[in-house]
Amino acid sequence: MNLDFSDTDIERYSRHILLAEVGGIGQAKLRDARVLVVGAGGLGSPLILYLAAAGVGTIGIVDGDTVDLSNLQRQIAHSAARLGAGKAASAAEAARAINPGVRLNVVAKRLTPENALDLIGGYDIVCDGTDNFATRFLVADACVLARKPLVSAAVLRFEGQLSTFKPHAGGPCYRCLYPEPPPDGLVPTCSEAGVLGAVTGVMGTLQATEVLKEILGIGEGMAGRLLVWDALAAKFRTIRLNPDPACRACGPAATLRDLSGHAPAPAMACAV
Ligand SMILES: [Zn+2]
Repeated sequence: MNLDFSDTDIERYSRHILLAEVGGIGQAKLRDARVLVVGAGGLGSPLILYLAAAGVGTIGIVDGDTVDLSNLQRQIAHSAARLGAGKAASAAEAARAINPGVRLNVVAKRLTPENALDLIGGYDIVCDGTDNFATRFLVADACVLARKPLVSAAVLRFEGQLSTFKPHAGGPCYRCLYPEPPPDGLVPTCSEAGVLGAVTGVMGTLQATEVLKEILGIGEGMAGRLLVWDALAAKFRTIRLNPDPACRACGPAATLRDLSGHAPAPAMACAV
């Protein structure tokens, strides 16, 4: 591992390097890491900014939408000056303004069954910050097939959820928790039910923290656990998750062999 850092980088990352759990070796791990963020919305905004600030060397940003005025209540990587711009490019611009030293790969399109495995294949860790079930299941299944850790978060109204799925290393996958997408219209989206903007900020920041822990190999990860936060009650609780032996994605008799069964992702009315 190359531990050569410029004086500027040593100063930039000094508060990390001071931590015994990070140090120079940890900072080099962050620099060498490649993280893919699917969705540059309410979760993706703080996630991308904190990963860039932390010095994660390569960050891919997948989002096919453009910045809308109704996004700015919570999607803090975007700005009034960038209304109408592509969200992936806008988030990359915000990240670059914080840390010009990281590589930002802008993918201004939706994740599809055709491009998912190719895109994910270039990264070490994948983060889901999307707000439609078709894309959530597509990301989750692609990560199982590609054996990539998935750090997943979701928000609605005043509640957030977070977990890490890496069935290749033990623990459940997303389908162990949610075997199939719910019928259309059963679970409302943020554009239908609303979301307190700051709740997306907390959950995206927790997601960034878990990604950094995974890269550094420190602390207790979220594999096999679901964190649920009720912002109105100001209460966190953690639920144990077990692998489902009958899971069609990761179980012993898994039937999921490719992504051909996925319908194209519908348009996102509200990217979280
Ligand atoms: Zn599973």
